[in-house]
Amino acid sequence: MKYDYLIVGSGLYGAIFAHEAAKLGRKVLVVDKRPNIGGNIYTEDIESIHVHKYGAHIFHTNNKKVWDYITQFADFNRFTNSPVANYKGELYSLPFNMYTFNKMWGVVTPDEAAAKIEKQRREAGISEPQNLEEQAISLVGRDIFEKLIKGYTEKQWGRDCKDLPAFIIKRLPVRLTFDNNYFNALYQGIPIGGYTKMMEHLLDGIEVRLDTDYLENKDELDALADKVIYTGPIDAYFDYQLGTLEYRSVRFENEVLDISNFQGNAAVNYTDRETPWTRIIEHKWFEFGKDADGKELPKTVISREYSSEWQPGDEPYYPVNDVKNAALYEEYKKLADSESKVVFGGRLGEYKYYDMDAVIASALEKCKEELS
Ligand code: FAD
Ligand code: UDP
Repeated sequence: MKYDYLIVGSGLYGAIFAHEAAKLGRKVLVVDKRPNIGGNIYTEDIESIHVHKYGAHIFHTNNKKVWDYITQFADFNRFTNSPVANYKGELYSLPFNMYTFNKMWGVVTPDEAAAKIEKQRREAGISEPQNLEEQAISLVGRDIFEKLIKGYTEKQWGRDCKDLPAFIIKRLPVRLTFDNNYFNALYQGIPIGGYTKMMEHLLDGIEVRLDTDYLENKDELDALADKVIYTGPIDAYFDYQLGTLEYRSVRFENEVLDISNFQGNAAVNYTDRETPWTRIIEHKWFEFGKDADGKELPKTVISREYSSEWQPGDEPYYPVNDVKNAALYEEYKKLADSESKVVFGGRLGEYKYYDMDAVIASALEKCKEELS
C-alpha cells in the first residue's frame, strides 16, 4: 500500500484529518471530485472579493479548543453576523430582538414585548410544540411567524412548517435585548484572506487530487491505501441501496455589480413566500468592504440563493433531519459500522446538520481515536 489513509473530500473534516495524520508521519492522499479544495467553505476571488462559492459561511464557536485549533491556520476578523429580514419591503432586525419587536409591534420595553409574545402564544393554544410552526409561534408569536419565518422556512426546506421538526427554529435566538448579534458565540469571525487560504494552510504539503470522484474510481483508489476516511454522502457510498436520503440543495446566482454598495449588509433574508430566492449575500461586507490592503472596493458581488429539493447530480447541502430520514440514516449507519476499513465523517458522511465548529470538534475527536 502506498498510503496509510485515502481521504475522500477536502472539506474541513477531510483536511483536518489529513493534516493531523500527516503531522504524525502517516502517508495520506486526499481526493475531491470538485475542481477546488475546501468543500463548502471554499472562497473564490472575484474583483478582489472573497466570494463564498458554496454558500455564506460565518465561523462561530464557544469551544475554545476548536478556536485555538483553527486559528493556527488563519487569523480571523471581527465580523459579527446581523442579518436583515426583508418582508415585502419592510426591514426587520435579526435574530429576533428588541429592534425586531419594536418594528413589528411598536413595543418599547422588554416587558411589553414579552407580554405581546405571551398573548399570541396563548391565543394559539400551544402548550407542547410538536412541529416548527408551533415551536415558532410559542417562541415569538404569530405575527413574527407569519412575516419572518413561515415563507422563508417553506422556501428553504420545501416543506410546510407543520411538517418540519421544532429543533430547526431553536437555532435562532430570541432576545429581549437590543442585541442583533446572530450567533451569541464567544468566538466569531471570517478568516482574513478567505477560507481557501486557511484550507491551503491545513493541506500544506499534502498530496491532493482534484476532479477525482472516489466512487467512480473506487477499486483503483481503495487499492492505494490501508484505510479510507469518507466524507461524501453516506447513501451514495452504498449506491443508494436502501433508498436515497433527502437533502436540500441550493443554487447560487452570482452577479458582479459596478456599484460599491448593493444592500449595505452581508446578508438580507427575503422572508415572504413570493420572492423566489431565500436571501441575497453581498460578500464584500464579510470583510468590511475592503481589499487585502485595506482599500475600499469599487465593485460588489452578490449571490441570490435559491433552495431546492436535491436531485441526483445536484450538490447535497442540507441533510433533512426529520424522522423519516433519521430512521433511514440509522439503517445506513449499520452498514457503515460493518465497513471496518472505512471511517464515515463530516456533514454528509454522518448526515448531520453540523456547523463548522462541530465538524472540527468531530474530526479532532476521530483523529484522537484513529491516530493515537
Ligand atoms: P464538505 O465541506 O461538504 O466537504 C465534503 C467534500 O467531499 C466536498 O468537497 C465534496 O466535493 C467531497 N466529496 C463528496 N463526495 C465525493 C466523492 N465521491 N469523491 C470525491 N470527493 C467527494 N457552518 C457554520 O459554522 N457557519 C455557517 O455560516 C455555515 N453556513 C453554511 C451554509 C451552507 C449553504 C451550507 C451548506 C453549510 C453551512 N455551514 C455553516 C456548515 C458547513 O458548511 C459544514 O459544517 C462544513 O463545511 C462541513 O465540512 P465537511 O468536511 O463535513 O463537508
Ligand atoms: N429562519 C427563518 N427566517 C429567517 C432565518 C431563518 O424562518 O429569516 C429559520 C429557517 O427555518 C432556518 C432556521 O431558521 O432553516 C435556522 O436558520 P439559520 O440561519 O440557522 O439556518 P442555516 O442557513 O444556518 O442552516
